[in-house]
Formats: sequence, C-alpha cells, structure tokens
Amino acid sequence: RADVLTIGEAMATVRCAGPLRLGGDSRVSVSGAEANVAIALSRLGHATRWAGAVGDDEPGELILRTLRAEGVLTDHIVRRADASTGLLLRDVAPGGRARVHYYRKDSAASTLSWEEVRPAVDAGQAGLHLTGITAALGPAPLEAIGAAAEHARRTGAWVSLDVNHRSLLWTRDAAARTLRPLLPYVTVLIASDDELAIVAEGDGERDRVAGLRDAGVEEVIVKRGAAGASYHGARGSFDVPALPVPVVDVVGAGDAFTAGYLSGRLDGLDAYGRLERATLLGAACVACAGDWEGLPTRAELTALALRDGETLR
Ligand code: ATP
Repeated sequence: RADVLTIGEAMATVRCAGPLRLGGDSRVSVSGAEANVAIALSRLGHATRWAGAVGDDEPGELILRTLRAEGVLTDHIVRRADASTGLLLRDVAPGGRARVHYYRKDSAASTLSWEEVRPAVDAGQAGLHLTGITAALGPAPLEAIGAAAEHARRTGAWVSLDVNHRSLLWTRDAAARTLRPLLPYVTVLIASDDELAIVAEGDGERDRVAGLRDAGVEEVIVKRGAAGASYHGARGSFDVPALPVPVVDVVGAGDAFTAGYLSGRLDGLDAYGRLERATLLGAACVACAGDWEGLPTRAELTALALRDGETLR
C-alpha cells in the first residue's frame, strides 16, 4: 500500500541553453507533472507509486531508472514495444523566452487504459493524485483516471486534482468539459488563479470556490506564483506569501508546491502547516535548475524550515 499513487505521462526532457535550431550543448532529464510530484513526495519519505506507460526504449529506461533512484514505486509501469516514450524539448527563443516543444502525440502514455492502471489502484493508497494533463492525453487515459478516482474514493482514499492546464495539449473549453465531471470525486483541488475558471462558474475567486465546494471539493488551493497562494476550506480561507528566493528556474514550482501540500496532509499538519510546507517546496524548486532536482529530502526540509537567524547545530 502506498501513501500516494499518481498516474500520468513522464517524458525524457532535453534542455538547450539557447534556440534549439542553433544546436550546441544540452542536458537530458525527466519531467512530467505527476512524476515531479512523485519524486518530491518520495524524497520526503512518503511511499509513492507512479503508474504510467513508457516505450521499450532509452527514454523509457531513463524514466524508470530515475524514478527507481528516487525511491518511487515502479512496480506497475507498463512497457510498450509498439509505441515510444514521450519527449519534451525545452529551449530559449531569441529574446530570452523559454519555449516547450512536445513530441508526445501517440506516445506510449497516450493509450494508457483503466485495465492497465487498475492493478496499481488495487494495490491501495491513502491518496490518489491526478492532473488535468493526463486527462488531455486521450480518451483511454481520461477514462483511466476517472475510474481510478471513483475507485479510490470508494475505498476511502482522498483524491487531489491539479488542473495544470497545458494550452499546447487542449483548449480551456475542452479542459472545462472534461475536468468538471471529475469534481465529485475530488477532495483537494489545486489550480493557478487563472485556471479556476476552467473548473468553476462564477465571477471571481470567491464565487468559483463556492461552486467547487458545492460540487463536493473539500479544499481548494490557489497558486499565485511569486505572489504566494491561498487556501479555502470548511473553516475558512487564508493567504500565504511566497518565500523570497533567488529565481533560477520556475518550471516545476507548481508540482513541488502540490507535493509539499500533500506531504503536509499525509503528516496530519493543519491547513496552515500544509501551505507552509507547500510554499517551502515551491521556493526550493524555483531556487534550483530542473523541475525536481533541487527538492529537499526530509532531513533537508527541517533545515530549510528553520526561521531566519536560526542555525542548525
Ligand atoms: P508550473 O506550471 O511552472 O509548475 P504553476 O503555475 O503551477 O507552476 P506557480 O503558481 O508558479 O505554479 O508556483 C507555485 C508555488 O510555488 C507558488 O504558490 C509559490 O509558493 C511558489 N513559487 C512560485 N514562484 C515563486 C518565486 N518566484 N519565488 C518564490 N516562490 C515561488
């Protein structure tokens, strides 16, 4: 039994320092929102299982090896001989803007089915973490996460959903139509402030949160980048500021933040403590290069949590 099961697509990721068309040095790593969350949780000592499909290829080996090295449970990963692992190329456009190029159409993960995921769900978990990205991959992954959510709730697990809208994969309208039916299964909804309108009607944050709570969502967490985050739950709402850190690479901050929140939930922290841990992980992520490489272990978390002026002796 895992503390958390997450289901999604992980991709081999190639990062270039400048425009890709110029060639030059690059760095190869692994990314994917659910894999980022799984690694972050595993580093904090939570038993975390990642379920997904990879190709029978070198990028697939890289993903398996990375997840194993990070202590993530990899016992329910599907290998496909007839499809490739998804690929993500990141480069920097002239002018300095970061760009993302996906090669994930017809990837191994795009046909991930409920039959393939079911054994991972049946292995048991305290919580199931899903993202809107998996829902965007195709009809089979969408069906898989819907059934997984239903099954998890029926067996007493909580379900978290990070809207994680990816405009390269689908439109906001398609995301709205697809994600709203999942809400009755969602315990914790996580969204950026501009993503709330995808999953809820209403004019402002207050209205939208009220709609989500009426749909059965217990907690709504709103991410606002460097401006911090907000919590909305049964006992009310509050804001937390982001931790000021030197910004090196903001990609992955949302996943780190989510993992911090879920870790706090698993540890039985109150809402404020969960947001504090989320904020700490988000800040740790932006202060280092890579989506998950700079995230703390449990021991490092304690050191990071020390207030200004305190020294670890
Ligand atoms: P991504 O899609 O890149 O993973 P996101 O849009 O889902 O990001 P953000 O709102 O950018 O998520 O960031 C999540 C959290 O990380 C914020 O609520 C904040 O706590 C922390 N964070 C983000 N940017 C910064 C920053 N510049 N400085 C400190 N903390 C940050």
